[in-house]
Amino acid sequence: MNAVCYQINSWFSLVLGPVFPIPNVGRTGFCPALTGETEKLPLGQPKSAPPIMEFGTKVIHAGLSPDPSTGAVMTPIYQTSTYAQAAPGDHQGYEYARTQNPTRTALEANLAALENGKHGICFGSGLAAVDAVLKLLEPGDEVVSTNDLYGGTFRSFTKIFEPLGINFHFVGMDAPERILPFLNDQTKLIWVETPSNPMLNIIDIAGVCAMAKERGITVVVDNTFASPYLQTPLDLGADIVLHSATKYLGGHSDVVHGALIVNDDTLADRLHFVQNNTGAVPGPLDCFLVLRGIKTLHLRMQRACENAEEIAAWLQDAKGVSKVFYPGFKNHPNHDVAARQMRGFGGMVSFTLDDDTLAGASAVLSRTKVFTLAESLGGVESLIGHPATMTHASIPREQRIKNGLTDSLIRLSVGVEDVRDLIDDLEQALKG
Ligand code: PLP
Repeated sequence: MNAVCYQINSWFSLVLGPVFPIPNVGRTGFCPALTGETEKLPLGQPKSAPPIMEFGTKVIHAGLSPDPSTGAVMTPIYQTSTYAQAAPGDHQGYEYARTQNPTRTALEANLAALENGKHGICFGSGLAAVDAVLKLLEPGDEVVSTNDLYGGTFRSFTKIFEPLGINFHFVGMDAPERILPFLNDQTKLIWVETPSNPMLNIIDIAGVCAMAKERGITVVVDNTFASPYLQTPLDLGADIVLHSATKYLGGHSDVVHGALIVNDDTLADRLHFVQNNTGAVPGPLDCFLVLRGIKTLHLRMQRACENAEEIAAWLQDAKGVSKVFYPGFKNHPNHDVAARQMRGFGGMVSFTLDDDTLAGASAVLSRTKVFTLAESLGGVESLIGHPATMTHASIPREQRIKNGLTDSLIRLSVGVEDVRDLIDDLEQALKG
C-alpha cells in the first residue's frame, strides 16, 4: 500500500505538480497504510505548473491532482477547522484552517500557475487582499496610485490607511513618466489597475515596473478586469498581482473571494504572515467555487471578449449614446499598449449618454431585461451598472467627474449569452 501511494504521488508530481503531499497518514489522512515521518508543508506551498502547459490546460490541471485518499477528480471541500496530530507537532502539514486548508492550497497553487507566479495567497474578498498588501507598509510610507480605480480600493486607502499614517498620491498613469514627480525615498508602493474600473484606461505595466525597479519600489497590479487569460503582470515586471476573484475567476456571481500572486519568497512569507494574523481567509466552499469557476475561465473570457467587441461597435452608432469606452478601439487612449500587453480587450464596455444626467442614466438602467442592474462584474450573465451611484459612490463627485466618470456613465459587464439578445436589449433600453 505504501508503495502504491508513493507511486501515485510521484506520478502526479511529475505530471501535474501535486498540491497535496501524499501524506504519511496515520489517523486522519488520505493513504491509511502509510506510516513514518510526516511531510510538513512549508508556508507558501503552492507549486507552479510545469511550463509545458498551455493556458487552457492549466486552468483545469495546474497545481491539482485527484484526491489521493479516494481518487476524487474534483478537489474536495475540506470543511474542517483543525487537523489531528499523531503527537504534538507531528502532523501532515495542516494544523489549523486559518493557516492552511487543502482546498485553499489547491486553489492557491492553481492561481500561482495561471499568473506565472510562484505563490498564490487567498483571502475572503478582493478588498481583504488589498488590505493585506497595505499592511506591508509603515506610517510615513507613501503610495502612488492610479487615480482611476475601484471605489472600494480608494475608500480603503483614504478611510482606513491614510488615518494610520500612509500617504497616497492619486495620479493619472496614462504615461509612466507622470508618476515620476511623486516618487521619493518614502515611496514604497505603486498601485496599478489596468484596465481600470470603470473608465477602462490602460496603464503600461512594463513601463511603470521599469521605473519602479530602478528605485526598489514594489508594484501591485490589480488584474481583476483582465484576468490571467488576457494579461499576466508578473511577466511584465510586477511584484504583486491582485484579484477580486469574485469577478472573472469565480465567474458565476456566487462567491466573494480575493487573491494575491507573487514570485518573491520573502514577499510571500510576509503576505502569508498578514493572511494568517488578520485572518481574512476564505472558507473551503468558497475556494472550491473559485476552483470550479476557473476551469472554464478561458472559454468564458473568449466569448465575453467576442460579445464585448460586437456590443462596443454597435454602441458607437447607437442613438442616445455619446461616448463609448472600450480598449479595443484604435482611438482608445493607450490602445497600442493594450494590444501589446493583453491577449484580448476584455469583456467590459462603458458608455455615456447624450443626456448626461443621473436621471437619464437611471431611465436606461431600469429598462434592460437581459442585462441585470447590479454591482459586480465578470459573471456568465451580463450586468449593467451605474458607477456614479453604485461601485464608485465613495469617490467625491468633483474627483470622479475630473477623471471622466460623469453622471451618465454606464458600465457593462458583458457575459456569455447570445450577443444578438444583448444588443436587442440595449437597443430597447436606449429607445425608451
Ligand atoms: N478590484 C477591483 C478592480 C474590483 O472591481 C473590486 C470589486 O468590485 C475589488 C478589487 C474588490 O473586490 P471584492 O468585491 O471581492 O472585495
